[in-house]
Amino acid sequence: MTTSNKAIQSHVPGFPRIGAARELKFALEANWRGELPDAELETVGRELRARHWGLQQQAGLDFVTVGDFAFYDQVANHIQLLGCEPARYGFSADQSQLSRYFAMARGNGAKVEPAACGHVHAHDDGQAHASAALEMTKWFDTNYHYLVPEFTPETAFSLACERLFDEVNEALALGHAVKAVLLGPLSFLWLGKEKTATAGEAGFTRLALLDQLLPVYGQVLDRLKALGVQWVQIDEPILGLDLPAPWRSAFENSYWQLNQVGVPLLLATYFSPLEENLSLACRLPVAGLHVDGVRAPQELTSIADWLPVHKVLSVGIVDGRNIWRTDLDAALATLAPIMEKRGGKLWLSSSCSLLHVPFTLAAESALDPEIRSWLAFATEKLDELYVLKQALQGEYDAATADALDVSRVAIASRRASPRVHQDAVRERIAALPVEADQRRSPFAQRQAEQRARFKLPAFPTTTIGSFPQTDNIRAARAGFKRGELSAASYNAKMRDEIAYAVRRQEDLGLDVLVHGEAERNDMVEYFGEQLQGFVFTQLGWVQSYGSRCVKPPVIFGDVSRPKAMTVDWTVHAQSLTGKPMKGMLTGPITVLQWSFVRDDQPRALTALQIALAIRDEVADLEQAGIGIIQIDEPAVREGLPLRRSRWDAYLDWATRAFRVSASAAADGTQIHTHMCYAEFNDILPQIAAMDADVITIETSRSDMELLNGFGQFRYPNEIGPGVYDIHSPRVPGQAEMVRLLRKASAVIPPDHLWVNPDCGLKTRGWAETETALRNMVAAARQLRAEH
Ligand code: GLN
Ligand code: ZN
Repeated sequence: MTTSNKAIQSHVPGFPRIGAARELKFALEANWRGELPDAELETVGRELRARHWGLQQQAGLDFVTVGDFAFYDQVANHIQLLGCEPARYGFSADQSQLSRYFAMARGNGAKVEPAACGHVHAHDDGQAHASAALEMTKWFDTNYHYLVPEFTPETAFSLACERLFDEVNEALALGHAVKAVLLGPLSFLWLGKEKTATAGEAGFTRLALLDQLLPVYGQVLDRLKALGVQWVQIDEPILGLDLPAPWRSAFENSYWQLNQVGVPLLLATYFSPLEENLSLACRLPVAGLHVDGVRAPQELTSIADWLPVHKVLSVGIVDGRNIWRTDLDAALATLAPIMEKRGGKLWLSSSCSLLHVPFTLAAESALDPEIRSWLAFATEKLDELYVLKQALQGEYDAATADALDVSRVAIASRRASPRVHQDAVRERIAALPVEADQRRSPFAQRQAEQRARFKLPAFPTTTIGSFPQTDNIRAARAGFKRGELSAASYNAKMRDEIAYAVRRQEDLGLDVLVHGEAERNDMVEYFGEQLQGFVFTQLGWVQSYGSRCVKPPVIFGDVSRPKAMTVDWTVHAQSLTGKPMKGMLTGPITVLQWSFVRDDQPRALTALQIALAIRDEVADLEQAGIGIIQIDEPAVREGLPLRRSRWDAYLDWATRAFRVSASAAADGTQIHTHMCYAEFNDILPQIAAMDADVITIETSRSDMELLNGFGQFRYPNEIGPGVYDIHSPRVPGQAEMVRLLRKASAVIPPDHLWVNPDCGLKTRGWAETETALRNMVAAARQLRAEH
């Protein structure tokens, strides 16, 4: 190796583990069904790791990353590595590590299931009972969910699992240069939760466990050093958050201790700018620092200046969160001056682990070739790093020259493509009046008009939109997609399903009906497929949690709506009943949040384009006689930036996009929105500013506690707090829902209350749905009698 070769090195913070064909998913699910023995599952894991390291090596990375593999979740791996499995599981000594792992990940009893949208939602069902799975929550601002470590004053740590070291040995045996990766001690504690059983321990904070945790990290590092790893990447993404002072000040001493081991540490941060933690990160006694050059390019120059030159700087220049091909010339222009500041020494990387992007483009044979040329998934990003490394070194072969040319052509084609840019969309946005985000009259006036129009009883009952997606429905859709079922017969089947749902709702005596969403596979995909500016991959799967993956749409161009998307179905449904039929749309922020989005214009602009498409749909529904329209926005909260200083800007454009989508409606048209479980309290003014006539939220699992904030804030419009949990097959009784409704009535003016389940019913069966809704309607009637 030449010295220049050493001066510039490349690596990735992590690689997708699910496999090109989701091999890990299928192996896991077979194992859980009892069809694949543990030993064979281990073999699948070993093969996947070997393959993924092979890809990294073949792509010319200087190290392979070891420790990013997990059978369920990397945080759960650390719980076992560090010997802090919660005592509540009462694991016995002879229970295998793998069975304990899956018990924590999946629980032994009833498992909380994903909501109707297919996404899981952060939740806390109070005191975790003995066998319940660990709580799951979002990994920073990604759609990946990790298992939340539980900490009590009794939590003790010990080096308790050999898996990481075994994996290092595997990689070494394959001849790889190894960089091991660990989640850092401060981020590990931060991401966990205090679980205290008694009030006497109320003063306990998990940071107090740090002193006991550090020696175990020291042992892990000792072992890694003894095995001969070249580097240990230690992830502390919380350096990109607004940290309380005690957490910030714990870094210096912690890393001083860990550095004593003498294995080179690469401290990795990602997802967010370092801001006030920048000088701290540069100062910590470690051998190197990795930073996210995509999310925080503005900090690169100061980091290059502040980080002592004897330390390695790793710049995440290739976007690990999105699927676009890197503009290599632009990247080189960014990197060159940094390299100079660093005396010619620089590491290149993806901004964060490639866990958050699909595996490879190679399988995407059905993608339009021009659009395909604009993309790079995980495997292609490895190649980009190689080209960047060669180009920065200034001496490269014909293959690299070719790669640079291909990249230039693709970047130019994307920039100029008429498929990306639609003048009509631009012009419409430029001409959009400021008041396009305002309903015609204030809420009170609209409410009066809507009351006169719909004459609903007090405590009106409704549902969130979807009814059970039965095997019949799924089979019909699959047959239609495979071309085995004609459009006409598919349509006829769906119309029958809608008619069935309408009849059931009439029998149950619900007040505001829905068509049931039989024709929808997914609340975002359904709209994306009908909008211009979207494409869909065949195998662009990204891990969401455990064995679950999502396949987000790709928004590549200006968004517009060629024709109405939901009107026919909704009008058909309305024709079958005299009750009001609620139209059902997905809002702009949710579409944005659950897609891969353009990086060539601000997210705010993309959101506004989607909002205009939804606005047209609202107008068409209204025109067709639909008087109530719900625009679902479960993802508003999850779109919040990691830094609080950026919340206001985001909430401004996000709530405006929602209002633009809703404000075509006349005063007499009632706009609903729906949001799933979330911490609403700190964004209540903005939720109120969305100005939906009715909002339905998920509240039953918090025993209506979530509603208190709305009450204290005097939330001005109508509200439907979910009275039963749709995540479980358990059927709630009437009395239970009456109790919740009384609780709600004490907090919210009763004449502002609606009665509905927590979320959509698509994951439920009809039998339990009918009983639950019958009880719900009875509960509403009882409340009416009481008021
Ligand atoms: N209308 C959707 C449904 O009922 C809403 C789902 C969601 O917000 N998660 O399925
Ligand atoms: Zn929901």
